[in-house]
Amino acid sequence: MATLGIPQNTITVLQKYHFNFQKKFGQNFLIDTHVLERIIEAAGITKDDFVLEIGPGIGTMTQYLCENAREVTAVEIDQNLIPILADTLSAYDNVTVINEDILKLDIVKLAEEKNAGKPIKVVANLPYYITTPIIMGLFESHVPIDSITIMVQKEVADRMQVGPGTKDYGALSLAVQYYAKPEIIANVPPNCFMPRPNVGSAVIRLTRHETVPVQVEDEKLMFRLIRASFNQRRKTLANGLNNSPEIHLSKEVIQESIEELGVPVTIRGEALTLEQFAALSNIIGRRMK
Ligand code: SAM
Repeated sequence: MATLGIPQNTITVLQKYHFNFQKKFGQNFLIDTHVLERIIEAAGITKDDFVLEIGPGIGTMTQYLCENAREVTAVEIDQNLIPILADTLSAYDNVTVINEDILKLDIVKLAEEKNAGKPIKVVANLPYYITTPIIMGLFESHVPIDSITIMVQKEVADRMQVGPGTKDYGALSLAVQYYAKPEIIANVPPNCFMPRPNVGSAVIRLTRHETVPVQVEDEKLMFRLIRASFNQRRKTLANGLNNSPEIHLSKEVIQESIEELGVPVTIRGEALTLEQFAALSNIIGRRMK
């Protein structure tokens, strides 16, 4: 395999096809074999696995996935990359390329067809402009997932991993940690990509929890409370909930619920753990009945 992880090989392919990078699709192709090997290793890909790759680009990581997995489906939005992928992946008979926007694809159906509905592995060097909708879409649509190993903006990786009391803590941290265990695998500098992004990147692995870590009676209500609390970060939890168009509760009910949780009514949302948000949503849910 003439790996595209070697910069000269990527340049040769780009020139052969007169490829123009499209900024709107977040195209920064990996050109570092060590990083590619690290991603494959962290994802723990074996010959039993079906892997979904989001945004294969010119097929750099796809080649590694094909070597290591049973079967790969790669979903690429840019139709200009489709003939290139047919070329760079021609040696493999275990890959299917779909020219589609990942946000429009029925991944539950794909997992059903390709992996008999069993948990799949997702691997991607994500387009940074849609990192959060992709990850939340995968978790919330209840796609059977084993793990998601992805390259994201460093700052986003940090946000996924942190707990209360830090400036990066927010709705994304809580949502990711509700569904999965996040672990940062490697920091990746801009010179590992072509063209170079103007932000640092990190590889993060999200291993799906077998059972959710908190007891919550109404998931949707809990996420509404979380969003309302972080929408107005500088406000107290009580004011955040009170001012939210998503929460229709009287000031008194909000105050009593926070008291029942056993924390000061002046607390800010950013100080609450996932367990406390779950408990608060259970308290409020019962009061709403
Ligand atoms: N995997 C390649 C690599 O590592 O070199 C390319 C990574 S590049 C950061 C992101 C890729 O995602 C690009 O190929 C881009 O065209 C594709 N992409 C962007 N938005 C997408 C979407 N909504 N659905 C599917 N692919 C998308």
